[in-house]
Amino acid sequence: MSCYKGKYYDELIANAKYIGTPGKGILAADESTGTIGKRFASINVENVESNRQVFRELLFTAPGALQYLSGVILFEETLYQKTAAGKPFVDVLKEGGVLPGIKVDKGTVDLAGTNGETTTQGLDGLAQRCEKYYAAGARFAKWRAVLKIGATEPSQLSINENANGLARYAIICQENGLVPIVEPEILVDGSHTIDQCADITERVLAACYKALSDHHVCLEGTLLKPNMVTPGSDSAKVAPEVVAEYTVRALQRTMPAAVPAVVFLSGGQSEEEATLNLNAMNKLKANKPWTLTFSFGRALQQSTLKAWAGKEENIPKAQAALLARCKANSEATLGTYLGGGSLSEGTSESLHVKNYTY
Ligand code: 13P
Repeated sequence: MSCYKGKYYDELIANAKYIGTPGKGILAADESTGTIGKRFASINVENVESNRQVFRELLFTAPGALQYLSGVILFEETLYQKTAAGKPFVDVLKEGGVLPGIKVDKGTVDLAGTNGETTTQGLDGLAQRCEKYYAAGARFAKWRAVLKIGATEPSQLSINENANGLARYAIICQENGLVPIVEPEILVDGSHTIDQCADITERVLAACYKALSDHHVCLEGTLLKPNMVTPGSDSAKVAPEVVAEYTVRALQRTMPAAVPAVVFLSGGQSEEEATLNLNAMNKLKANKPWTLTFSFGRALQQSTLKAWAGKEENIPKAQAALLARCKANSEATLGTYLGGGSLSEGTSESLHVKNYTY
């Protein structure tokens, strides 16, 4: 049997291509209730629904920001929330030309017999949830698989298990009208070299594309959300041009030209670092049959969160910080970012957290 050709075929392809429009990218605002709680704790804000609503409203209504975005990933609670004036967030996004997306995984659990490796849960009932999210306006989905680099990691078991999970998730999404973002995140934690990260990224991506093919996923209606290829967090950093060369080569070797776009995660890089790395990839003269854009969480929200600090009077300042990062990353997708494009504090601060959960 060939790949998915069901009733959502044309729509999936059009939406995946739209998300990869040059000059636009994704804001990952899908932190689970537990994860947003950690962010709020850093600015002494209580983790209650009303505060989560205020923060997300601030993001989605930031003047001028949506023009630089093609998608926003939401957590389930946010998909059904409204502005204080009563407008559903989904409508705010749609009117701004932004597709609403939804995190559909249920987090990770340990893989028995491994050294702390994990698999991602959430396949049970996934089709029904996707159907419900589509009805609520979602048009794409995210599922985060997590791999780590160690002396014997990632194990073949974790590579196979995570690739298979991503492929099952992807085909279920397509059957229910959601473009699946395939996210095999290789954590930056460790003292490995950039060459080791490249080797492992290539092995993991190759396994993912084999699984997606086996599961009859229509690649034109998917997006890839990988880590950038970098040295480990305990190793010395390298220049953006080096990250760009290694990352693009790993993609060239493993990623089919049928996939329209790569939407990178920021993985604990500072806001400025993530933008400069993305910019260097787009400046690189190389064979790149896909758009290279962003799906940043931490690297789009950190300075905004700090500027807000939970205070209503800070909302305009916080929205200006978000606009500055969205514009900077939009330029980075075109390779025209000149650096230093931020108004706020915190843009160069490392956002790395060991074993980060989303
Ligand atoms: P970061 O950009 O903070 O790594 O998060 C993106 C994301 O959505 C991870 O699943």
